[in-house]
Amino acid sequence: MSTIVKNLQTIQQRIKNACTHANRNPKEVRLLLATKTVDSDRIGIAMEQGETLMGENKVQELKQKCNAVKQWNPEVHFIGHLQTNKIKEVLKWASCIESVDRLPLAEKLHQRLIFEEKEIDVYIQINTSYEDSKFGIAPENAIELIKEVAKFKSIHIKGLMTIGLLSSESDEVRKCFKLLKQIKEDVIQLNIPNVEINELSMGMSGDLEIAIEEGATIVRVGTAIFGERIYPDSYYWNEQKSLNE
Ligand SMILES: *Cc1c(COP(=O)(O)O)cnc(C)c1O
Repeated sequence: MSTIVKNLQTIQQRIKNACTHANRNPKEVRLLLATKTVDSDRIGIAMEQGETLMGENKVQELKQKCNAVKQWNPEVHFIGHLQTNKIKEVLKWASCIESVDRLPLAEKLHQRLIFEEKEIDVYIQINTSYEDSKFGIAPENAIELIKEVAKFKSIHIKGLMTIGLLSSESDEVRKCFKLLKQIKEDVIQLNIPNVEINELSMGMSGDLEIAIEEGATIVRVGTAIFGERIYPDSYYWNEQKSLNE
């Protein structure tokens, strides 16, 4: 059996166990294949096993691989830092952008969607760990951003996304996920038109159990399925952060 198939079974079992532990129905938690640096043949092995949801961080990779995995008709999310000049390309491939984290991006996205007469689902990415190396709106500014983005009728806010603190201190990691869930509850209380937050995209290879306990509906897993990557995550997470518009 291929390593990817074995790893997938392990991950599915971890998700199941975490759901049992948290008294949740495993159907409430979807696995998103985090496929950065993974070539389309290896993604195909996972799709053959019935996986249907994938996420890419870079527009270049998105473009190359989406064509190659077309036959499995996956649901594709964009989960990386999105520069405004790449919006047009992302809209060709992704049905959801999980990484909306600033108003100028949403503005440009809306303009393009109007032009294309399209609409899109987005999640708001929140920097719950307050680490400089991570993108995402600061938690205390999240509600304000959500209210502003909600005014764009072409954009539907369907969830929140975060990357938890990379730490072996599980209590510190848990705080990030609790915070995301709290923000979700706060948003629901506000009853903002055009906002319907059902999804919490949180938890990765190392911390998916904690995320599921705290209410994750999507866990994004890369390394534990496809193996270690050659590029450090900083290449995907904070590249050119200082040039961020
Ligand atoms: C790479 C990545 C993941 C997956 O991380 P792993 O630790 O490899 O499971 C999840 N979310 C985002 C946004 C990523 O960039």
